[in-house]
Amino acid sequence: MHVPTDALVRPQNRGHSISDAAAPSEDRWRRELADAIRDPEELCRELGLDRSLAAAARPAAADFPLLVPRGFAARMRHGDPHDPLLVQVLPVAAERHDVAGFTADPVGEQGTLPAPGLVRKYAGRALVLLGGACAVHCRYCFRRAFPYVEHGATTAGVEAALAAVAGDDSIAEVILSGGDPLLVDDARLGAVVRRLEAIPHVRRLRIHTRLPVVLPSRVTPGLTALLAASRLTRVVVIHANHARELDDDVALAVRRLAGTPALVLNQAVLLAGVNDSIAAQTALAERLVDMGVVPYYLHLLDRVAGSAHFEVGETRAREIVEALREALPGYAVPRLARELPGEPAKVWLA
Ligand SMILES: *Cc1c(COP(=O)(O)O)cnc(C)c1O
Ligand code: SF4
Repeated sequence: MHVPTDALVRPQNRGHSISDAAAPSEDRWRRELADAIRDPEELCRELGLDRSLAAAARPAAADFPLLVPRGFAARMRHGDPHDPLLVQVLPVAAERHDVAGFTADPVGEQGTLPAPGLVRKYAGRALVLLGGACAVHCRYCFRRAFPYVEHGATTAGVEAALAAVAGDDSIAEVILSGGDPLLVDDARLGAVVRRLEAIPHVRRLRIHTRLPVVLPSRVTPGLTALLAASRLTRVVVIHANHARELDDDVALAVRRLAGTPALVLNQAVLLAGVNDSIAAQTALAERLVDMGVVPYYLHLLDRVAGSAHFEVGETRAREIVEALREALPGYAVPRLARELPGEPAKVWLA
């Protein structure tokens, strides 16, 4: 988890060095987000898919709406209803099936909120919920049923969370999460980071975000500058599940983040029909490493209601990771992990 401290002594020039002439403005990602696809009919039309898929999507979309930025949809294969990127975002009838063991709060998160907006489960780390919104709606997400607005993700919630962090000197690392914490604008994010810097026992800032993957234009010069100027050690955990999510725009956005400097890690979820093969996981790990990203976690699905059709069994999961261990450098093999309520850490299975 540590980056060498000598790399952090004079970070101020590094965040601006990589292709900032072509870097996106804050307007651009706002526009792209506003222009994201929200209608299953439109997504199916754009991809040349049968309209019956859009009709089947409608009831599940009423529970948890479709949302996908056009740049991400553009990486999907035309005419392929099984495309691994499409499968992550297209609502399907199976989401409405009741399956035993799949519940609204599978990881017990709703019982771990000492302040609204703060999730305190593991030693030394606290998770601040910065916003409830996401730029993409992943159908498997355990937060699809999480009541963000009641539990922080409001200005008052963030204030209470910062006060709780300040009052607990065992917290060395603050994880910004959400929703997607990078959906707040640079001014608000900068204000939060400065507040954290003023808390002496906080040493590390970790950001868990899917935006560099689904909306790479979010990595603006303003964002990299505010990270580069921070005294906190930066760790950015992106979230990609398939190598085809990682096109050249994503690679450039990740290089800008890494240049601040930040340690960039990836977490993926093992998903049936998306990445549950040795070939898919090998390609993902190779692509990440080639981009300078360390594959950190491969999560087993959190058993949230509506996601049962994505589940991959533990035996199969271990087989896949074992095959990766034989084929890849050690640092390229993600830790297979599962979150269980009440455990002191995520449980490593391989
Ligand atoms: C995953 C998680 C963390 C971080 O765990 P790491 O093993 O350090 O990645 C912290 N808090 C919560 C609530 C989490 O779910
Ligand atoms: S929290 Fe992450 S996984 Fe869940 S919907 Fe948002 S971007 Fe997707």
